[in-house]
Amino acid sequence: MAKPVLLTVDDDPEVLNAIERDLRQHFRTDYRVVKASSGPEALETVHQLKERGAQLALFLVDERMPHMTGTQFLVEAIKVYPDARRVLLTAYADTGTAITAINQIGLDHYLMKPWEPPSLRLYPVLEDLLSEWFARARPSFDGIKVAGHSLSPSSYAVKDFLAANQVPYQWIDMEDEDSVRALLSGASGGAAMLPLVFFPDGSTLVQPTAIELAEKVGLQTRAQKPFYDLIVVGGGPAGLAGAVYGASEGLRTILVERAAPGGQAGTSSKIENYLGFPSGVSGSDLAHRAATQARRFGAEIITAQEAVEIRREDPYRKVILSDGSELTGYAILIAPGMEVRRLEAEGIEPLHGAGVYYGAALTEAATYRGQDVIVVGGANSAGQGAMFFSRHARKVTMLIRGPDIAAGMSRYLIDRIEETPNVEVLTNTRVVRVSGHGRLESVRVVNVTSRVESELPAAAMFVFIGTAPRTSFCANLVKRDAQGFVLTGREVMTDGRPPAGWTPQRDPYLFETSVPGVFCAGDARHGSGKRVAAAVGEGSATVSMIHQYLQTV
Ligand SMILES: Cc1cc2nc3c(=O)[nH]c(=O)nc-3n(C[C@H](O)[C@H](O)[C@H](O)COP(=O)(O)OP(=O)(O)OC[C@H]3O[C@@H](n4cnc5c(N)ncnc54)[C@H](O)[C@@H]3O)c2cc1C
Repeated sequence: MAKPVLLTVDDDPEVLNAIERDLRQHFRTDYRVVKASSGPEALETVHQLKERGAQLALFLVDERMPHMTGTQFLVEAIKVYPDARRVLLTAYADTGTAITAINQIGLDHYLMKPWEPPSLRLYPVLEDLLSEWFARARPSFDGIKVAGHSLSPSSYAVKDFLAANQVPYQWIDMEDEDSVRALLSGASGGAAMLPLVFFPDGSTLVQPTAIELAEKVGLQTRAQKPFYDLIVVGGGPAGLAGAVYGASEGLRTILVERAAPGGQAGTSSKIENYLGFPSGVSGSDLAHRAATQARRFGAEIITAQEAVEIRREDPYRKVILSDGSELTGYAILIAPGMEVRRLEAEGIEPLHGAGVYYGAALTEAATYRGQDVIVVGGANSAGQGAMFFSRHARKVTMLIRGPDIAAGMSRYLIDRIEETPNVEVLTNTRVVRVSGHGRLESVRVVNVTSRVESELPAAAMFVFIGTAPRTSFCANLVKRDAQGFVLTGREVMTDGRPPAGWTPQRDPYLFETSVPGVFCAGDARHGSGKRVAAAVGEGSATVSMIHQYLQTV
């Protein structure tokens, strides 16, 4: 298989040769380095590479070039390779330009010249960007192949599970009959058994469950130890932070995640307000880094397993998993976050996974390249989704129930949406009916003030209409509020008295629930910040309270 390309562009031959030399020295095993001495020449190269079917992973471009600036070049180049990472080479004086480019073209990084020594100032940042690109672009390779219908909910579930767990696969659409017929001829059951997953060792899974897939691709699904100091439920930012801090401070730590580490944050195409990432970080990249960090400190992470109940058997705490097995430990951190709310509209259920998706469904963006899509919702997650899909779709229509987009969305996203020509915002608008034969074809909407209805043709509809805490599994044990958020700290006290069954001679710690030794952090906690940084802060802060609790058991 041809290596993906790193394209570097600079009009100064000395600088161009130096960057080419440094790139080759470090990346030549996995990437091919291609250079160009001007924007127009580089654009020609980009089109030639595309025609040859080459993969392009990174643009590393000087900003100040005659004829065409680096930013102008990138505006055109990313139309051809929208997933390639974008880095501008700038002088100190160009910082303002680079910051504008972050906003205009989603610049990933600006690199100051000179970049000596490359081991400190060049390679780490490019390695990060390339690993992010690799996880997203999933280069075609001779590994796992998934065959199915692109508009089938079960095929979508398999693709979503593999992508969320950052397992590369090659997708084979049933519509591409030749390749599928050849593959299906070797599988019992034939086309009726889709989706089929083919593995490099020659084995096949037919309509696999998440746990079957997880085990087959080598993800841990069962606990290795009989006992833990800390059991974390949920692998979003709060749970991952709990696992990182717990394991790094010597606690025997296990984290249970029903789908894939990352949680809601993992589905975000770009988190722009997380401290330390001036040009944003993709949720999947953040999740991947955090999970790697937790494992490096010795935490176990088991996926495709859901906590279905928690129990108190003093002095132990138990978590019952969906396969019937039990985890036993001293303390539990509940960090299950939120699940997306379902949209109520006529005809919607049968089209779920066949054009209707909840949340960002980033894996599906390529399927709808060049088509019209709808994004439902007016909060930041919907805004981020609209911006992401605008890179692929012909047109994105945002449907917002309220009269003003500013009511639920951050200013920076509103500005971005207003500057993007293929995004249209319809306020005061509600979905009435969803139609299509086997796949979404159109969405009927009503303007809630004028009562005028209209039919919008759409190949896909991505729904972001809010979330509810996913806490039913612990409802038997801990106190929750009317919406299902878990109460902690002073909230569990009544008239200054601790809750029934409270045994310690102290009040509950800040993030402790109505049961001693059971803590809660992140979005599922009553009164939490509902942000990545807040969840990370709570998850890590909980660990010091758990240490204090462990001294008493
Ligand atoms: C599309 C989108 C974009 C966003 N963008 C931003 C942003 O730019 N900036 C920002 O600050 N915030 C953003 N947010 C909000 C942010 O993602 C959340 O505040 C944050 O993820 C909450 O973290 P958490 O760990 O509490 O829960 P979650 O992220 O919801 O994670 C909970 C995890 O627990 C798992 N789980 C649930 N129940 C169980 C169970 N019973 N057993 C096992 N596992 C379970 C879930 O599968 C999930 O992985 C965004 C949210 C969305 C949806």
